[in-house]
Amino acid sequence: LRRRLEGELEGIRGAGTWKSERVIASRQGPHLRLQGGGAGILNFCANNYLGLSSHPQVIRAAVQALEEFGAGLSSVRFICGTQSIHKDLEEKIARFHQREDAILYASCFDANAGIFEALLTPEDAVLSDELNHASIIDGIRLCKANKYRYKHMDMQDLETKLQDAQKHRLRLVATDGAFSMDGDIAPLQEICQLAQKYDALVFIDECHATGFLGPNGRGTDELLGVMDKVTIINSTLGKALGGAAGGYTTGPKPLIDLLRQRSRPYLFSNSLPPAVVGCASKALDLLMESNAIAQSMAAKTQRFRSKMTAAGFTISGKDHPICPVMLGDARLAAVMAEDMLSRGIYVIGFSYPVVPKGKARIRVQISAVHSDEDIDRCVEAFTEVGRKHGALP
Ligand code: PLP
Repeated sequence: LRRRLEGELEGIRGAGTWKSERVIASRQGPHLRLQGGGAGILNFCANNYLGLSSHPQVIRAAVQALEEFGAGLSSVRFICGTQSIHKDLEEKIARFHQREDAILYASCFDANAGIFEALLTPEDAVLSDELNHASIIDGIRLCKANKYRYKHMDMQDLETKLQDAQKHRLRLVATDGAFSMDGDIAPLQEICQLAQKYDALVFIDECHATGFLGPNGRGTDELLGVMDKVTIINSTLGKALGGAAGGYTTGPKPLIDLLRQRSRPYLFSNSLPPAVVGCASKALDLLMESNAIAQSMAAKTQRFRSKMTAAGFTISGKDHPICPVMLGDARLAAVMAEDMLSRGIYVIGFSYPVVPKGKARIRVQISAVHSDEDIDRCVEAFTEVGRKHGALP
């Protein structure tokens, strides 16, 4: 076994796709201290879109929940793992999204693993965007429905597949609301129109939208004016909403009731720890009190995107805090990311198989807690490094 594993690991190294982990020795935030490295590293690669991961009120709420409700439940929800704070958070999530009910999971990966199998049978069909997140792909693999994969955001292809899927009892269109590799946003108005025409339901994964897209941060459905047309939302508590952990499904009450009876990651995995529940609950309170936090990131995103474009870079996506700096060549992306770190800017290069061959990039993520100076420093470093390595003239 050891020999086989070492061979496989060598293969990964040889292919240049080895992922190493940098060790952070401080809290998550725009400025980090790395273990064995310098302090004051500017961080542009967390999903901490609203800067709530280390927000003082979020931390205090976690400490209070820990003290009042303990470290954990030592149980799944239906045996003896449901506390009042779990029910309160589910109610708050449903209210936030203006849906009937919500169910918590240990992660959104689990929410995606649980929903399709519980909802769909061999009589049904699921139509999935080819670039959906790995957890949606895995969730769909687990269900016995008829599977259709449509080309990324291609409405013509989706319509053809919906026509073919008319023979099935129920059709579910599944898409990321915002796609994390390209920073592009699903055309939900068109998807919902097609769903109406072909009597299908719409499911969206809002991990990269909840908390900050739309006027009140409700997500892609709010941004595109289709909150009443999207039936099911899965999202995470581990990114903008405090960044601790946890995921959920929100939607019609009978669906949530069914998931509590049938969804395997919910039935057979431990309850969310109270401190984690406390973080997410406070993050939602902050967002529901005022839309200022949700709005706070847009101007920073705009600043980065326009300055980088003016410098000569191509930034994929539109108006999203995920700003992929498109470079094409895998080695160039890796070398530039390394050079950025040597200048105190933490960004990550992505290449095949995470993104298609020839589409390597450095993914920059903007947070509400980046200052204008932070963003300008990042653009300056990119410009210098880009010129040095031939990515800019
Ligand atoms: N869906 C999408 C689109 C994601 O980006 C992620 C996280 O990377 C997940 C689901 C999984 O979320 P979690 O970290 O809560 O398991």
